[in-house]
Amino acid sequence: MGYFKDIFDGGLSLIEGMVVTGRRLFQPLITVQYPRKKIPLSSAYRGHIELKIFEETGTHKCIVCMNCEKTCPSGVIRVQGEKQKEKGPKTLTSYVIDFSKCSLCGLCVEICPTSTLKYSREYELVGDTRDDCQFDLIARLEKQVEKKKDEKATQGIAA
Ligand code: SF4
Ligand code: SF4
Repeated sequence: MGYFKDIFDGGLSLIEGMVVTGRRLFQPLITVQYPRKKIPLSSAYRGHIELKIFEETGTHKCIVCMNCEKTCPSGVIRVQGEKQKEKGPKTLTSYVIDFSKCSLCGLCVEICPTSTLKYSREYELVGDTRDDCQFDLIARLEKQVEKKKDEKATQGIAA
């Protein structure tokens, strides 16, 4: 008896599934053919943190206060700086995060006194090893600066 009941339940489940599939056939698509097509990201999306570029300086405003490193609950931020002059302020020389352990809590962004940290819009990240999750934020910033320069040059040619 249990055997026939299983067959009946299986058939019923199949019909129910096909009804759902058939109904969806005549409704508008809610998926896209990624990666050929991409949907706009939500403004609330949080990618890994990165250094912000300021128009007035053309670079970040990190003062190497170490607040972000001390505040990070996951201990994934490593900031280093050095003094150019004996009594002068420190200059940022290295900013590395281990994104594999970042919880995206946002405390580093909130605590930064110069607002020089932001969330990236990056979501296409892949890696084979843990080392691939070590992000050098200065190197990433330099790439962005170069990209902005190229974009301005292209706009200048087009104008
Ligand atoms: S978002 Fe949170 S866990 Fe990630 S680096 Fe900032 S403070 Fe650390
Ligand atoms: S909190 Fe801001 S200014 Fe201070 S070290 Fe971090 S990024 Fe730099």
